[in-house]
Amino acid sequence: MITEICRITEESLKKAKEILFNHGLIGMPTETVYGLAAVGTDPEAVKKIYEVKGRPSDNPLIAHIHKGYDIEKLVYVEQDYVRLLKEKFMPGPLTMVFKSRGVICPEAVCGGETLAVRMPSHEGCARLLEYVNVPLVAPSANISKHTSPVTAEHVFADLNGKIPLILDGGRCLAGIESTVLDVTGSVPRILRAGVITKEMIEDLVGGCEIAEHKEGDKVRSPGVKYRHYRPKCDAVLYSETEVGKAEERYYKETADGRRAFIMAESKICAALRERGVKNLLDLGATGEEIAHNLYEKLLEGERKADIIIAIDLGRTDGVFLGVENRLRKSCG
Ligand code: AMP
Ligand code: MG
Repeated sequence: MITEICRITEESLKKAKEILFNHGLIGMPTETVYGLAAVGTDPEAVKKIYEVKGRPSDNPLIAHIHKGYDIEKLVYVEQDYVRLLKEKFMPGPLTMVFKSRGVICPEAVCGGETLAVRMPSHEGCARLLEYVNVPLVAPSANISKHTSPVTAEHVFADLNGKIPLILDGGRCLAGIESTVLDVTGSVPRILRAGVITKEMIEDLVGGCEIAEHKEGDKVRSPGVKYRHYRPKCDAVLYSETEVGKAEERYYKETADGRRAFIMAESKICAALRERGVKNLLDLGATGEEIAHNLYEKLLEGERKADIIIAIDLGRTDGVFLGVENRLRKSCG
């Protein structure tokens, strides 16, 4: 199969719709990461998502809708605070998990009773969703467990020959996956952290919990239990108090003839550069910048390096919670 990359135009939207309505898959941009999309009511297409990605069959998909689509067609909205969340964060990088009405096929939710729904704010993605006017289910458009793609070229690198079309909507803004929030209970619960933070949700609705994943628990958001986001080269993680050790490792690896790169936030990179370290992957300074850059830098690292030596951020407030979570899973 030839995989085409197309900018979003009337013509490419038409092509995308044709593929989707004939049980096919396409790569689509969103403001978080690129998605691998299928029509959410089409079991044949949904099964292909799991095959193409090699995704574990117990990991459900998120349904993506446009602004004009009534969410209550898909789910039961039971909690009053959902209205506030919808007004503030939809469209945007917030996914909410509700009790499903069963419109989306069971293959997409692994037979479960809940459905995760999101309304992307990415302009091209919103155009596509309006154009097809059906919910599209989509996980990230990478081979399972690999680093998530934030450009159309990243999608191509993983899925070339496996899907007919990738819509190119530029580089993803947020850079990490959406916040997944369980809104079935009286207090919302974060199942996966993202750029919509616990603090932001708490400020708005007065409370927000973070689901803890303990050994032996029934996993509430199956995606979080896997080793994830791994670049194809080696990757190791040092704590923010071990910069000296990371630097030693860098020189040892280099002396052994391996291409080593240190990945860290800007101020650590600046200090290392001063001391003569040449191969650096600078993640940026703020939480938002680091979220935006993390996957891009991991994927740059796997092209250039034999080993990425990552330095932890040492913070879990705000956006850092989601970034830390990805950094530990990708390099830890
Ligand atoms: P991905 O599409 O690869 O970003 O993965 C989607 C994430 O949303 C995974 O962590 C899933 O486990 C989670 N998810 C999707 N649907 C549900 C659901 N119904 N209940 C809980 N978590 C979900
Ligand atoms: Mg994923």
